Amino acid sequence: MNRTRVLPLVAILTALAGVLALLALPTPAAERGPAAIVWMPADAATPTPEAARPTPTSGAARPTATAEADAATATPEARPGSSDPRHRPPVVDHGPRTGNRVALTFDADMTDAMRYQLRSGAVRSYANAAIVDLLERQQVPATFFLTGKWVEEYPEMTRRLAANPRFELANHTYGHLAFTPDCYGLPTISRQRMAADVARTFDVIAPYGGRQTRYFRFPGLCHDQVALTALAPLGVTVVDGDVVSGDPFAKSWRPIVAAVLSRVRPGSVVVLHVTEANAPMTDEALPHILAGLAERGLTPAPLSEVLDPDQEQPIR
Ligand SMILES: [Zn+2]
Repeated sequence: MNRTRVLPLVAILTALAGVLALLALPTPAAERGPAAIVWMPADAATPTPEAARPTPTSGAARPTATAEADAATATPEARPGSSDPRHRPPVVDHGPRTGNRVALTFDADMTDAMRYQLRSGAVRSYANAAIVDLLERQQVPATFFLTGKWVEEYPEMTRRLAANPRFELANHTYGHLAFTPDCYGLPTISRQRMAADVARTFDVIAPYGGRQTRYFRFPGLCHDQVALTALAPLGVTVVDGDVVSGDPFAKSWRPIVAAVLSRVRPGSVVVLHVTEANAPMTDEALPHILAGLAERGLTPAPLSEVLDPDQEQPIR
């Protein structure tokens, strides 16, 4: 094949790839299984991704001085959840079954399909500000597992999370791809790209400061030995959870509350979502969950303090 024939072929293939990429985007979010999403307050400056990039050293929206100092002094090795990079990361479901602390964890998913729903106007928000409002109002500690794309979509909300001394930030991959061959229909990432994807997510979150960790959660909680081996060099702790609330795509708050309160025990790690449109009942369930925990004598705490009670932080 000579050059004059090869070039048009390349052009045709390139165009075809573009069309296929477009066709792939509007995958219905409902097919995405546990991909739940969060949304931001309409009055939170409706940040355009471009205007609201994480610029921790610039102007008014910068993280607090404390958060900056923490981020500057805490090396990845010293952060909660850091592990020996020579071995596969530990996988934890819960902390010690002693004491009265439990961890409320909120996943912030963001797939390309979700991003398309936002851009097309089909979905208003994947950032549930009502959840953050309530946690702030009642001074409830929580831990947020953020995807890199969610952070890019909601920089103002990310700043708000990072600025709260009761909130910890953790990693939920860059674009919520599946790390095993069969995970709720999520598109899969290749083994070769796994470590870079998760490392990139830490890089996206780090400039926001606050309580950074080396905790990591796989999309859909799907992992195998291949995925764990791939992530070993990052020195993370994989956090699944022993109380899965089932809040994605819930039609009512009641089953969420029932699922949590029937299983929660001292040391539990509760899996919830802050992805509004994909988990629309979570904010309605949360007050009932908090009341139920209080009735049982259980107290929400940051994940690091639940998994390692000796690491209690001064701010509660
Ligand atoms: Zn997720």
